[in-house]
Amino acid sequence: MSIVESLLDFLFPPKCAACGTLLEGDRQLRLCPACFRKLDVLDGKVCKLCGKPFCGDALLCEDCNASRPPYVMGFAGCVYDGLAREMMLDMKFHNKPHLFRVFAALVIRRLDSMPGFVPPDVVTCVPMRPEKERERGYNPAALLARQVARHYGWTFAADLLDKVRDTKVQSTLSREERYQNVKGAYVVRAAKEVQGKRILLVDDVCTTGATFRELAELLQKAGAAEVICASAATTRHGEV
Ligand SMILES: [Zn+2]
Ligand SMILES: [Zn+2]
Repeated sequence: MSIVESLLDFLFPPKCAACGTLLEGDRQLRLCPACFRKLDVLDGKVCKLCGKPFCGDALLCEDCNASRPPYVMGFAGCVYDGLAREMMLDMKFHNKPHLFRVFAALVIRRLDSMPGFVPPDVVTCVPMRPEKERERGYNPAALLARQVARHYGWTFAADLLDKVRDTKVQSTLSREERYQNVKGAYVVRAAKEVQGKRILLVDDVCTTGATFRELAELLQKAGAAEVICASAATTRHGEV
């Protein structure tokens, strides 16, 4: 934490982002212990490829078994339900961008729990259409990605990818429609910065994983050495 941040914490003691209780002790997560316990934070019991929690003892979920994703690894901070879902909807749609700190802390917590994680060369985010971003005032995925990169001292590049066409809101679509929905919606903008790089691609929520698959494939085709996909929250395998 920087001196400025410490001073700000002293002047404005941090409160739980969910319930407003004054925080004591570890403030990194920005949640009080009671609210933190409401989250289903993820550990190692997840699909080794896409990072989704699923039942059973297999290494991979059915989806990854049926069709390997074009990234080397995916992981998420917590399950997208209950309080996490409420906070996510607030961050994305109800003008509460500050909640990115909670979600970034969950991603960082998950990364810290992965010994031997090889640092990426560059961190980037799932882009929004520029007019949508202007309308909302921020891209939640970019806030998250920047915060994670800053925490570890990794390079952050917001503009490796572009969204070139509007997509429908994924939650209104069936599984198959979601893959169609994102096909061709993105392009690699900065191919030179992608070539030979190990890229950490960050999004706020992962549902079907269709966006991650599409973008990872694009980055691979543009010459990326490896793509790792991180989301703050993910649905369980089989849920969309
Ligand atoms: Zn709380
Ligand atoms: Zn999987």
